[in-house]
Amino acid sequence: MGQGHLVDRFNRIATNLRVSVTDVCNLRCTYCMSEDMQFIDKSKIMTFDEIDQLIRIAVGLGVNKVRITGGEPLVRPNLSDLILRVLEIDGIKDVSLTTNGIGLAKQAQALYDAGLRRINVSLDALSEAKFEQITRRKALTKVLEGLKEANRCGFNPIKINAVTMRGFTEEEVVKLVSFARKNSYEMRFIEFMPLDADDIWGRNMFVPKKELVDKISELYPLEPIESSSTLKHETAKNYQFKDGIGRVGFISSVSEPFCDDCNRVRLTADGKFRNCLFATEETDLLTPLRKGASDEVIADMMIESVAKKKAGHLINSVDFIKPKRNMSMIGG
Ligand code: SAM
Ligand code: SF4
Repeated sequence: MGQGHLVDRFNRIATNLRVSVTDVCNLRCTYCMSEDMQFIDKSKIMTFDEIDQLIRIAVGLGVNKVRITGGEPLVRPNLSDLILRVLEIDGIKDVSLTTNGIGLAKQAQALYDAGLRRINVSLDALSEAKFEQITRRKALTKVLEGLKEANRCGFNPIKINAVTMRGFTEEEVVKLVSFARKNSYEMRFIEFMPLDADDIWGRNMFVPKKELVDKISELYPLEPIESSSTLKHETAKNYQFKDGIGRVGFISSVSEPFCDDCNRVRLTADGKFRNCLFATEETDLLTPLRKGASDEVIADMMIESVAKKKAGHLINSVDFIKPKRNMSMIGG
């Protein structure tokens, strides 16, 4: 292999692969899933061997960073075995995990022992009632226990992802910042994107970064961190607290899109390769893989998909087309 790179018409090179290991989840966040999600038949979900093979092919094309996600990745049995395998791939520089944290109290140590160091835990609210309203499940205590255990194991950084929704989670923003500062977690606020299964997204429903920065600054003054060239592809705009205690990031995909710097590609749990979170077309890699296609053929399919990557997501245009898959089916 090594016959090419994942480069598109705009000279963006994909080096960052997000792999969904399952579409199943133990929460039903309103901005992501519907209550009655239909899950993909297990026989169509990639095995660890298949995931390993597809990541190796992508690494041969220049990918060096992998994030494991889902659905909820920790509902997949023995996830630490997969982490270990991915970390062993020659050419991989970084492996990270995005989780809702429910499984961390039990699995954090095994994940740490496998070599994982960086995790993002999604947590939108610190009040049990609000948490349940958002996730449709009573699980806040488990998430908090999971965070504690991850901290005890030594994960660093531990980032907390919170989706902000107008009139719904705004009052949690400052509480989450205080909580993160106290525990040395890094807070990241993500604008609500039109990728929910229930079609509740509306332009008036996300809270733009500027408003959040102003709100947080009233209590904890913030200043922007200039991004260095190594952080060129960082999706978050990072700020530090002026008192030196921690930092906070804002992922403003809607109000300040970062498509021009995008270096990401995605693999869904059923083996579909996507050149963009908002792609309306995807390339099925699992079917040819199962039929015995060579690594070179699969690599060419990846190259072809990236070559067709569009300039940007068009959320802010009348031409925007919502992808058929919601966030949990893509892998956020
Ligand atoms: N279940 C894991 C979790 O919640 O962290 C991993 C998968 S989840 C789809 C990945 C991330 O996507 C989470 O941080 C979640 O908050 C975010 N997310 C889901 N739906 C979203 C939406 N419509 N807009 C913005 N972020 C969303
Ligand atoms: Fe599950 Fe994560 Fe989606 Fe919430 S955001 S429903 S935890 S996949």
